[in-house]
Amino acid sequence: MRMAGTGPEPVQDNPGTRRSLWLAYALLLVAGLGAILVNLAQVLDSKQLYLREADKANANLAYSIAQHAQESIKEADIVLSALVPLLERGETSADTIDQLLLTFKQRSPQLAGVFVYDAEGRWLHYTNPPPAADANNSDRAYFQHHRYSVSRDTEVNSPLRSRSTGEWILPVSRRFNDKEGRFAGVVLASIRVDHFREFYKHFDIGAQGSILITMNDGTIIYRRPEDVGGTGESMAGSYMFQYDLKRSPVGVGGSISTLDGVDRVYAYRALDQFPLVTAVSMSRQEVLAEWGRKAAMVGSLVAVLVLALIGVGGGLVARMRKRMAVAQSIAQENRELFHLANRDSLTGIANRRQFDQALQVEFHRAATVGSPLALVMIDVDYFKAYNDRYGHQAGDACLKAVSDVLRRFKVRAGDTVARYGGEEFTVLLPHTDLAGARLVAERIRQAVYERGLTHSDNPVGVVTVSVGAHSLVPNPDDRPEQLLEWADTALYRAKSGGRNRVCLLEPTS
Ligand code: GH3
Ligand code: MG
Ligand code: MG
Repeated sequence: MRMAGTGPEPVQDNPGTRRSLWLAYALLLVAGLGAILVNLAQVLDSKQLYLREADKANANLAYSIAQHAQESIKEADIVLSALVPLLERGETSADTIDQLLLTFKQRSPQLAGVFVYDAEGRWLHYTNPPPAADANNSDRAYFQHHRYSVSRDTEVNSPLRSRSTGEWILPVSRRFNDKEGRFAGVVLASIRVDHFREFYKHFDIGAQGSILITMNDGTIIYRRPEDVGGTGESMAGSYMFQYDLKRSPVGVGGSISTLDGVDRVYAYRALDQFPLVTAVSMSRQEVLAEWGRKAAMVGSLVAVLVLALIGVGGGLVARMRKRMAVAQSIAQENRELFHLANRDSLTGIANRRQFDQALQVEFHRAATVGSPLALVMIDVDYFKAYNDRYGHQAGDACLKAVSDVLRRFKVRAGDTVARYGGEEFTVLLPHTDLAGARLVAERIRQAVYERGLTHSDNPVGVVTVSVGAHSLVPNPDDRPEQLLEWADTALYRAKSGGRNRVCLLEPTS
């Protein structure tokens, strides 16, 4: 019941405070989660950045070593293309050719040796002496190839051990013909595999990176580091050969090495002009080491911030909760005080004090808006006799029963049903004219009668009430007590008129 300006009003459980508490929790959660998510996104993004940078560095280096291999082979090829016409014309002396071979070898330090074999594989000319007088190279793959292929193109073959020096070499060869165009033999310029080792040792690829040059069938020419994957071994089963190279001659990838089990990111490149592949890789762990350190640092910083946020924010919210709890208990106390001060302890309906306040408020409101205000006064008939016959406790029960009946007549927010004192009750009805007041009064009387509480000292045999009612549109200078007086007078008339009846004072004017 609201009564503006009528003393202390009960402080209600404030749903707004509860909402702001939830809001504070939600904000804390959103801020914490937000910080974590933003950090996570950034950390993952920077991981990609590190990997992309590694890919770029690998690709650049793979390109450089591919260029280096190509140039090395081309230089060997220049030797071959100078020798083939000389041999085919057959006009140059053997000594001159021997001399030429030596010159070529001296000029190109990557060459292990330069050799000329006849159609049967016998050593015709050479920079390095044959291992035996009857040495024969017709069993070599490159020799077989030239013998059976009419192609005069340069052939680069899988690495093999030199028969003259025992070192690993990469054979670069061509066929030469006799005057009738038949196979007359093979010229060979062999490149030292060490040539690649010397070049590759200059690059920084981390402790677990690798640099690789292979034939395009996966046969390793040279691999750094040398612990696994030696010259001549095959890595045809690796992911790069199985999948990457089948898709594209140039690219980047990542896989766990079939040779040493290290997880690497790599870039590879097939040479344009020769059947060779170069690849450069770095260990994923090494590439991401710095990123990992930074991520851990930023992560722990964010964790500290989030914890601080939860600590400080949580503390604030806890204080808010505590204050709310205090406010609630105060509100509860207020409610109880309000009840004590304004409720009738026997019947639970409004007491005289609250009725008086309500009357003041509603009287002035009615005067302000010019609306009628009705007051109904109810008095239990022959109640002294009831008490005398049935006892005081039964009398109390009877008053409670009557108040229960009256309670039903409080239908609008502004209506007030009160125990005025003793066995007298009042019902205050704003916006109710005389006709409305009569109707309510009559219904009350009827309802109490129909309640049928036995009362032997009442001529009708049950508890009844007499009701006096009045309604008026107050003037600003009227007093609320006037309405009470009118209703009381009406009640007096109902009593003297025989009880169990309703009486209204019709306006005299
Ligand atoms: P009338 O018909 O003229 O109203 O007669 P009445 O006996 O009802 O009126 P009276 O004023 O003579 O008596 C009212 C009685 O109500 C007197 C009092 O003992 C009793 N009474 C007042 N308050 C209480 C109460 O709280 N409990 C009980 N049991 N009786 C009460
Ligand atoms: Mg009385
Ligand atoms: Mg009475």
